Amino acid sequence: MHTTPISDLPTIRDTLRASFKAGLTRPVPWRTQQLLQLARMAQENREAFAEAIALDIGKPKTEVYFAEVGTIVKRSVMSARALENWAKPVVVDVPDWQKAWKPTVHKAPKGTALIIAPWNYPMVLSLSPLIGAIAAGCCAIIKPSELAPHYAELLAQLLPKYLDAAAYRVVLGGVPEVTKLLELQWDHIFYTGNGRIARIISAAAAKHLTPVTLELGGKSPVIVDPSFDIALAAKRTLWAKTQNCGQFCATPDYVLIPRTHQDAFIAALKASCAEFFPQGSMKSDSISRIISPEHHARLVDLLRRTKSQVVFGGNTEGDSKIEITVFKDVSADDSLMEGEIFGPFLPIVPVDDIQDAIDFVRSRDHPLALYVFTENAALKHQILDETMSGGVAFNDPAQHLGVDELPFGGVGQSGHGNQSLKYTFDTFSYERASVDVPKEAEPFNAARYPPYTAEKFKA
Ligand code: NAD
Repeated sequence: MHTTPISDLPTIRDTLRASFKAGLTRPVPWRTQQLLQLARMAQENREAFAEAIALDIGKPKTEVYFAEVGTIVKRSVMSARALENWAKPVVVDVPDWQKAWKPTVHKAPKGTALIIAPWNYPMVLSLSPLIGAIAAGCCAIIKPSELAPHYAELLAQLLPKYLDAAAYRVVLGGVPEVTKLLELQWDHIFYTGNGRIARIISAAAAKHLTPVTLELGGKSPVIVDPSFDIALAAKRTLWAKTQNCGQFCATPDYVLIPRTHQDAFIAALKASCAEFFPQGSMKSDSISRIISPEHHARLVDLLRRTKSQVVFGGNTEGDSKIEITVFKDVSADDSLMEGEIFGPFLPIVPVDDIQDAIDFVRSRDHPLALYVFTENAALKHQILDETMSGGVAFNDPAQHLGVDELPFGGVGQSGHGNQSLKYTFDTFSYERASVDVPKEAEPFNAARYPPYTAEKFKA
């Protein structure tokens, strides 16, 4: 992959800042046109994007069209349609005596933003934040992941053909390039990736007091209430787990199920696995591969260190594929429960009952997502009240991500800030308050001016 010369980075940032200062990105019709251009870029080059992403991670084309190209086209067009409404100043409701001041909240673009994206959904995670930046009227640099180099190169070629290069630029590179970018001052940094690097980003941003959005991961649990249809719970869990071969921020990381039902759930998982991948997941072209030999080695090591029983799967042959693997009787202190798995391993952690499962979730970091299979309304309320997570999906893991109108983000160790449609617009906007006090308000002001005589306070 080419890299952007490090010495060019300050100049690129300065060019964007100058465009912002000159007001290039301010007019709403201009932003709308750029959003529609972004949709055109995704739509017209969908084949090329699918091929690039297949080269990077072996992602099936269906998944690219559905989860990446389709999402970008849809969100760009929806944002273009809604933009005028989002960008409108809002006059706030106030007591009668302040009404003449016209107290208003203006949606001001923050300025020039830095978007740093990971490799697992390279298109959606680099361009979804960009949609919000464009909508808000910001300039932005997009730094796609060096681990998805075909996508990154393609984006760098295509973006200037569709968007105004005076406002939006792609920087290619890895750690040295990001390190240089982080030395510069930005008006917002939007980072998606892991918690370790998030600390580097936050520390660098703090030096300039730059606001940051951190879209991170974590261990998203699945709780199964055994009164739910076990076969359906297993099928839906397996589908979510196998998206991008488990390399998905909101993938079901582990399952909590009363021990009385553990074996039934595992049998149902096995049946669904045979249905989804009749030749086995290692031979299937309906599942992505592992992104790099390093990530493959990390997962092989996890498999070597676990003390839990493998009930099916376990094949790790080569350096790019890992079989969907399910583990039973996993204990809280097993290596599989240390950190985010980010691969096709599914540990089943048996619990005494649902309360035990809730206590388990409460004892750990807030996950990015919490999944619960139950039709018990009281239990749903209890879970919403007693736990915390970035989002919750009852009865179908990851489906909350499919509702564009909902905010998507983490809490605590799974990140802060959120995105999707208006939420992304808000992320890149500053809510600027204004009042416009008429001269005629002067009689009401008499009491505030010194000297503060007793007479004034009688009134
Ligand atoms: P990655 O390795 O591609 O890194 C992400 C970005 O950080 C890249 O652009 C990379 O260049 C940059 N980077 C890497 N090392 C750096 C360093 N030392 N200093 C500065 N920048 C650096 O991706 P990743 O972190 O492996 O991504 C996977 C993680 O992202 C998982 O934890 C996953 O859960 C999380 N994730 C979260 C979301 C979300 O929306 N919440 C979405 C996808 C992935």
